[in-house]
Amino acid sequence: MKKFIALPVIILVSCLLFSFALTPYSVSAASGTTFSKTTYQTLDLLNLRTSTSMSSKKLLAIPKGKYLVSTYKEGTWYKVSYSGKTGYVAGAYLKKVDPMLAGTTFAKTNYITLDALNLRSSGSSTASKLLTIPKGKVVTSSYRVDNWYKLSYGGKTGYVSGSYLKKSASGSASLPPQSAVVDYTGTKMYVLVPAMTSVTLRSGASSLSSSIGTLPRGTAVTVSNYLHKTRGFVPVRTNDGRSGYVEATYLSLFQPSMSNRPLVVLDPGHGGHDVGAARYGIYERDIVMSVTKLLASRLAGKVDLKLTRYTNDYYPSLSERSWISNAHKTNLFVSIHVNASTSTAAYGAENFYYRGTSSVNLARKLQQNVVSTAGLRDRGIRFGNLAVLRGTNAPAVLTELGFLSNASDRSKLVSPYYQERFADALANGILSSL
Ligand SMILES: [Zn+2]
Repeated sequence: MKKFIALPVIILVSCLLFSFALTPYSVSAASGTTFSKTTYQTLDLLNLRTSTSMSSKKLLAIPKGKYLVSTYKEGTWYKVSYSGKTGYVAGAYLKKVDPMLAGTTFAKTNYITLDALNLRSSGSSTASKLLTIPKGKVVTSSYRVDNWYKLSYGGKTGYVSGSYLKKSASGSASLPPQSAVVDYTGTKMYVLVPAMTSVTLRSGASSLSSSIGTLPRGTAVTVSNYLHKTRGFVPVRTNDGRSGYVEATYLSLFQPSMSNRPLVVLDPGHGGHDVGAARYGIYERDIVMSVTKLLASRLAGKVDLKLTRYTNDYYPSLSERSWISNAHKTNLFVSIHVNASTSTAAYGAENFYYRGTSSVNLARKLQQNVVSTAGLRDRGIRFGNLAVLRGTNAPAVLTELGFLSNASDRSKLVSPYYQERFADALANGILSSL
């Protein structure tokens, strides 16, 4: 002990800090093993538990045949994530498999190579190179693992990085024509009003039309013809066979909970004739709709949700977007956009707020998350005197995910893998701001 007293004070202090900081980590690490990322398949229906014991709480059951990735085990228990939950599963029901089996199959899509691109034997930048696909070639894929796309070229089948692929404007990858009639006829929607209140089912498309009855929060209705929205009303049919008109503002594609939950209004920018930023046949209108749908699926069940548009064929005016939010007790409003500039050198993500500390804080969280999750340049948050923010009473942010005019940002904006990451980033930012 005497020996330690003789040491300079500064070393003692730093040693103390060091030991305090390390203690909790060393304890948990001592009982487990970290290993390189390994993919497993479940051999049976398997419980995901909160800890490494059969008696610990069950989080959910993972069906047989699903793929799981782990990098950590304690005894025979493997730490994995599934369906948004992280916990432990018994290793006895896991089989180690080729990680390239654990991918996603999707509709056959044509892509153009944005640069000379290596076709590799597996989805890793260290996997052996089969050949190089020249820039500007059209390739087809219907399977990917993370951001690695499986395709055949020059008689070889392998994987390429999705960061150098852009959806081709021709063939099966074409965007829906602008005149496409995507309507909600036959779609089930739900009444979104505060708990214990209801919306009036009317005989005509007007607030002056006589009342047929009242529909409480959460009531499911079938939209008879969404495109025939008149003065904000849509014709609907109830499950008990009544037909009438309801204000579209009070309908959501997402089922609200029985009791009030925070309400998030998502506003995918542009729509219909207004395609937003456009480059090489790629439209902002479509990218933000895809990201919004992915975002909504992450938020559904956790908050109440209302979208200002559900399809690409519809254009809500800027004031309509604000009215939709203002008609409810909205907790957060997020307008989702993609940037563009005449300079191809401009790139990165930015978030705009108009008023209030809550808006600034939300902008900051979304900014941090998008930058870190999608690896975009941080352009920071800014005050934006924008109509959709000005007109909205709830804390509101307009997020610009990246520049369609910049090749690097564009490759991420069109990539299904990165669209999922944008959705993750926004969902986490929104949930942590409520
Ligand atoms: Zn926009």
